[in-house]
Amino acid sequence: MPDRVPHVTRFAPSPNGRLHLGHALSAIIAHDLAGESGGRFLLRIEDIDGPRSRPELADEFRRDLEWLGLAWDEVPAQSTRLASYAAAAEALKARGLIYPCTCTRKEIQEAGAMEGSDGLIYTGTCKRQPPDSSCPAAWRLDAAKAMAETGPLTWDDALAGPQVVDFSGLGDVVLVRKDLPASYHLAVTLDDAADGVTLVTRGADLFAASHVHRTLQALLGLPVPRWHHHPLLLGADGEKLAKRRGSPALAERRAAGEDGRMLAEQLRLQHLSLGT
Ligand code: GLU
Ligand code: ZN
Repeated sequence: MPDRVPHVTRFAPSPNGRLHLGHALSAIIAHDLAGESGGRFLLRIEDIDGPRSRPELADEFRRDLEWLGLAWDEVPAQSTRLASYAAAAEALKARGLIYPCTCTRKEIQEAGAMEGSDGLIYTGTCKRQPPDSSCPAAWRLDAAKAMAETGPLTWDDALAGPQVVDFSGLGDVVLVRKDLPASYHLAVTLDDAADGVTLVTRGADLFAASHVHRTLQALLGLPVPRWHHHPLLLGADGEKLAKRRGSPALAERRAAGEDGRMLAEQLRLQHLSLGT
């Protein structure tokens, strides 16, 4: 039976590298899930990555999506929403739910941090001993305090089923970067709520991030969507497809005269064969 709940989905690329096949699949899945349900497919440019962000890529992304035969509604880019991130960060600070951390990656490594599902699991140095307030600081979620406040939380993935929020592979993640009013986690959670996204579709590599996002929704009183983490396309070597491993950018395939709609059809079939 066709899905009758109209989903609002989104594709949220960061313009710090060209789009490749994995991005195309992600966009197609989000587009089709919205379309099949009579919902809306949104494009949001996630351009707050400081010096890594290359604004000219946003236009290339739009041409890539057109070439794949996708239609979308574009919502404001992240760079226009910094005030809403700052306001949420202030609210979390006032509630003592985030704390400043001046540690460098090297210091965190030296403190014996283990690699988790979202980078190193912070060992809590600055939580035990607050840093000098004159140093530039990132702000980390006090996960223990957050969970004490929210109580147990669950979220639902369309493919993986019901999930219980668990920070054990995450620790106290960064919500405000040293150089920006938000990290990916804070920005994307606020934006998905502001844009009315009801089905968050993205690759399974971001699965664990949803524990953080579900917690932020509870703390900030935001609506709770469903998630759809799709399996990643793998290259012939079984490695995740990424530009750095030689998968050609969509823009290169487009420039070489390849038929984008045909490529989209192939990706749909390949995705079906993954059983999702
Ligand atoms: N902007 C993120 C990226 O390009 C994706 C965010 C998301 O889908 O939640 O990796
Ligand atoms: Zn620290």
